Amino acid sequence: MTIQADQETIIVEAFINGQNVKSLSQVAKENPTNPTEIVGYFPVTTKEQAVEAIEAAAGAFKTWKHTSIDERIMMMRKAIEKIRAAENEIVHLLSREHGKPLYDAHGEIYVSLMWMEFACNEAKSALQEEIKEHENGKTILSYDPIGVVAAISPWNYPIALSTIKIAPALLAGNTIVLKPSPYAPLAAAKVAEIIASEFPAGVINVVHGDADVGVELTSNPLVTKIAFTGGTATAKHIIKAASETIKDMTLELGGNDAAIFLESFDVHDERAMRRIVISNFLTAGQICMIAKRVYVHRSIYDEFVEKYIEAANRWIRIGDPFDSNTTVGPVNNLKQKNYVLGLVEDAQKRGAKIIPLGQILDQKLFEQGYYLQPTLVLGCDVHDPIVVEEQFGPTVPILPFDDEEQVIHLHNESVYGLTSSVWGKEEDAISVARQLEAGTTMINTAAVQGLDVRFPFGGVKQSGIGREYGVEGIRTYTEKHVINVPKTLDLPYIPE
Ligand code: NAD
Repeated sequence: MTIQADQETIIVEAFINGQNVKSLSQVAKENPTNPTEIVGYFPVTTKEQAVEAIEAAAGAFKTWKHTSIDERIMMMRKAIEKIRAAENEIVHLLSREHGKPLYDAHGEIYVSLMWMEFACNEAKSALQEEIKEHENGKTILSYDPIGVVAAISPWNYPIALSTIKIAPALLAGNTIVLKPSPYAPLAAAKVAEIIASEFPAGVINVVHGDADVGVELTSNPLVTKIAFTGGTATAKHIIKAASETIKDMTLELGGNDAAIFLESFDVHDERAMRRIVISNFLTAGQICMIAKRVYVHRSIYDEFVEKYIEAANRWIRIGDPFDSNTTVGPVNNLKQKNYVLGLVEDAQKRGAKIIPLGQILDQKLFEQGYYLQPTLVLGCDVHDPIVVEEQFGPTVPILPFDDEEQVIHLHNESVYGLTSSVWGKEEDAISVARQLEAGTTMINTAAVQGLDVRFPFGGVKQSGIGREYGVEGIRTYTEKHVINVPKTLDLPYIPE
């Protein structure tokens, strides 16, 4: 699947039925730090090859679904060990193709492995058939595999958001066709290759490309489940494409996560200030669950902004992802950079004040790559695009609010509801949290710092359908099959 062309350049091929499949055309993947440098090449999978991959997965499913859970766990554990052994190599590739600093790339592997370990530890009990004897007879509830899973992942966390699907799907007895994003296809392909080396041919297949391949994966009748992470707009196309054959779906979509600072929040708490800055700017703000709009009670607003700027200027060091001093790298791609820039410029035109944050470590590099200096946006209206749209980049608006009712309304009027956070005295924060429409709400922390893979993760409203992580994130790859053996076979209300 991945061939080391020379020391620096990786060539990725589609992987179908245990074989690398040559493609007619290859696309170059550039380094966002230096866009003239090619990190590797990936193919554009043809429609015919995508169909081949789906058919290979459907063929392999016939035998794979009969393997024992112990066997599947054993294979997955071996794959985990191999990923661990190759961690440095994977992290380097991920940093080069994505632009995230090395510590952040290590963090992605850390979360991926934590989840894969959890899935291995929990799979047996999560998928264990339940047999209940009751007054009306006996019921057997089994967790059967669904079939062929089309797993489609985005560019921001290409490894974590691929393994979040691969591990539970395979443990539950499904087979898979993975399509990573064309904006970060190389490291995800490398990890899929490592996992595939432990599994029979056809159980994991990998195809590449963008919407054209995605459409085949989401409409082909042999695909019975779609596991998609990406934008809400793309999900709307996927729902339409899948409607013809009514597929099971897990959709993890966009968010516009709010961080709410109550009157009881201590602005002098430097660790908390560092946590919110990280929650805004980790991975240059390109995380679904990052805090994308910050609301602060008016009574502490001015002091909050002052302390926030100090904390941001301490933590944000924009530079080379391979420099251990760097905390924020470039944006992953030019399209995203221009989109974020457009939102900031629009806010400025509307009268907002834009405050640059952090220190640029290498000006030459900054000008050469897809870098954006992180910014704080003050003085905007609650309905300005920078507040209501998902910016997915290194900029954040901070707005004052007057009372809890108002901020709860501002939070809940969004079409999104992925995560949120409330900061302040614990009991006050929990009381506000209970009133928020979101899949996860964190108290006194936000984003990945408050993520716990043992519990279900996902969004409400247009942030998604279904959950990943937790036991739910394993069972979501199963059909719940009930076998009823009633004692009384004749219903009393049906006449003789
Ligand atoms: P995107 O929707 O543009 O692309 C995601 C994937 O879908 C890519 O692999 C892409 O090639 C594929 N795709 C594009 N068009 C398709 C189609 N018509 N049919 C099938 N597949 C298609 O998203 P992105 O820009 O890669 O990622 C950023 C978005 O993902 C943000 O909105 C972010 O919030 C969201 N996201 C959500 C989560 C979550 O867990 N909720 C996590 C990470 C990212």
